Amino acid sequence: MAFPSTNRDTLLRTEKIFFRLSEAGNFVVSDGTAFVGFLDEDGWVWIILPGLAKFVWKTGKFVRNFAAGALAPAIASTEWRRRHLLILGYHGVSIEDEHIWDGSLYMSPKLFRERLRVLQRAGCAVLPLGDAVRRLNEGTLPARAVVLAFDDGYYDFAAVVAPILAEFGYPATNFVSSYYAEFNRPIFDIMLRYLLWKGANKTLDLSGVLETPVKLDNKGQGEARLRIKTFAFERGLSGWDKDKLLGRLADALGIDYEQLCRKRLLHSMNAEEVHRMHAAGHSIQLHTHRHRVSRKRELFEREIQDNRRWLGQINGGAPLVHMSFPGDAWEPVQREWLTELGIETATTCRPGLAEKGGDQLRLPRFMDHEHVPEQVFRAWVSGSMAFFPQAKYLPGEGQILEDTIKMKSEVAL
Ligand SMILES: [Zn+2]
Repeated sequence: MAFPSTNRDTLLRTEKIFFRLSEAGNFVVSDGTAFVGFLDEDGWVWIILPGLAKFVWKTGKFVRNFAAGALAPAIASTEWRRRHLLILGYHGVSIEDEHIWDGSLYMSPKLFRERLRVLQRAGCAVLPLGDAVRRLNEGTLPARAVVLAFDDGYYDFAAVVAPILAEFGYPATNFVSSYYAEFNRPIFDIMLRYLLWKGANKTLDLSGVLETPVKLDNKGQGEARLRIKTFAFERGLSGWDKDKLLGRLADALGIDYEQLCRKRLLHSMNAEEVHRMHAAGHSIQLHTHRHRVSRKRELFEREIQDNRRWLGQINGGAPLVHMSFPGDAWEPVQREWLTELGIETATTCRPGLAEKGGDQLRLPRFMDHEHVPEQVFRAWVSGSMAFFPQAKYLPGEGQILEDTIKMKSEVAL
């Protein structure tokens, strides 16, 4: 089977056939359960059935990436793409070496700037989420519409991301968790992991916390992390106590903790910085107060309301009606609660493009990161990647309140 070439004739025929198939409602494959279709050079349409589509995916991302890359130029200027919205998801952009530590959470500033260049060259329209979703529903989206959505509200958004966005004149939407914005010390879970990585291959002796010294090879880092987290959870340590514990850990590994704090590594933006980002034209939205959701209605609502109250004092009364699920911990039971809380959209990490009439309380989003090849990024921007089965995004650990070891003391924070 030949993949479509990019001559004009084929492009036009491709556009028509994709359009017709998507109109018929049987062509979207982003969940891996429908069909993948190709147009070959003689104008034949090849339909790959679900089993085979999964096989294509399993036999290697190479085939998928190649096919999506080949289709990208054809899909980018279709009417189909104009009626779909790409939400790109990010967490942090490095102040120092964070992307080397965890490339799925952090990206280098260099790569982030290259990503924006790709968007600029492709003639994408970058919109805040609220505008984009409204125009999606009105059918007035500009060509190749993209939303840049950042989760968590890290300090590096103000320090690194915003100046790069300003070079391009692009607005972003930042979903801010407010607990660490208020308690402005390093975020415990990620700083713990970062310090253990910084101490790689050393032997960690943390008496009173670890029964025996741990050699910090890959396995040892995971073990030490679990044991330190459990120690903090079981004792119901306060934010300050957990911060002291991180300081002790850094000392034990010969790392200058206060210097990391002065640079604000793995910190959230504080109130003044969040306000400044709002004033610079970025949309500040909800991500729960403590980066947790609950299966219990009362606790779920409290997370949103605490988050809303905190952000509401800062964003000049702009509506707080968009939410990103922390760690993608989405549960069907929450749909009704979201509606009653006046939440208009909820963004997940399920890869795909948003469409008119789609589920706005479960908006798909492609999570971009340091290890996503440029070819794949371009295929997402064009829209062609949405036609291929994607790996399921697994929720982050401990984002459902009831699943954490120490629920009571966390709620009491
Ligand atoms: Zn998050």
